[in-house]
Amino acid sequence: MSVAVWFSNGAASAAALKLAIDRFGLDQVRAINNPVAEEDEDNLRFQRDVSDWLGIEIEQAFNPRYPDGSAVSVWGVRNGMSFRHGAPCTVHLKKEARQHWESVNKVDWHVFGFTAEEETRHDRFILTERDNVLPLLIEAGMTKSDCADLIAGAGIALPRVYAEGYPNANCIGCVKATSATYWNLVRRTRPEVFRQRAEQSSQLGVRLARYKGKRIFLDELPENAVGRPLKTLRMPECGIHCGAQVMAGTAFVALASAWVGYWFGFMRGASVTEDTHIDRLRQQETSHDL
Ligand code: SF4
Repeated sequence: MSVAVWFSNGAASAAALKLAIDRFGLDQVRAINNPVAEEDEDNLRFQRDVSDWLGIEIEQAFNPRYPDGSAVSVWGVRNGMSFRHGAPCTVHLKKEARQHWESVNKVDWHVFGFTAEEETRHDRFILTERDNVLPLLIEAGMTKSDCADLIAGAGIALPRVYAEGYPNANCIGCVKATSATYWNLVRRTRPEVFRQRAEQSSQLGVRLARYKGKRIFLDELPENAVGRPLKTLRMPECGIHCGAQVMAGTAFVALASAWVGYWFGFMRGASVTEDTHIDRLRQQETSHDL
């Protein structure tokens, strides 16, 4: 039996790796990370600490189309930062990198950092993506906070971004975030990253922040703007499972809309088919999420 644990430099996937090794043994487990250049450099220190603690090499899996592992490069190539079906950086730097790794490495089971709070996301993931997933943290009833305690108990400092107030160890200036609180935290702690995101998103026409119910460009965001508290943000660790909820939601909306379209078409005698309605929705999904 072989198990791949997808380690994303966060507390949850580190705890999941520990549980996997305890349960299956070092010789059955492989730990893989998808490097992203925009993560904080201290994430790499954390990765080394976890590797030393558990005595396992953490492998790197890149998408050969993006050998620099840079989200900024992906946004430039894709001409967008955030689409309705998810962020292109997740797709190209996480999902496709994992698929490439799997094309040359065969494993029986996969482990991700789904915590006890994320059982619904896990259930959606196995419905929409793959079903050979071991929900080790969920089975153990481990929350995000339990994972952080486990890591702290091993004497390992969490990635420093947590202490700066970030809800996860994702890239600084993650394009999945829309909260005014989040973006003003980036502006305060990493002004250079904020400036870069503001510049690139403005060039690409992407309104990354939400303020007073409207999507706005980052350079339009008042410095004193406050959104929801970061603790309440549902921003899980970035991994191949990031897009699961969005994709599942999109699929549901597409099917529901297709059904409504079909019904109204039927009622007025028009020949609206599910296929044409879904095609139209797909075209809408490829536009920017404004
Ligand atoms: S953390 Fe955010 S910006 Fe970085 S790859 Fe994931 S979705 Fe993209």
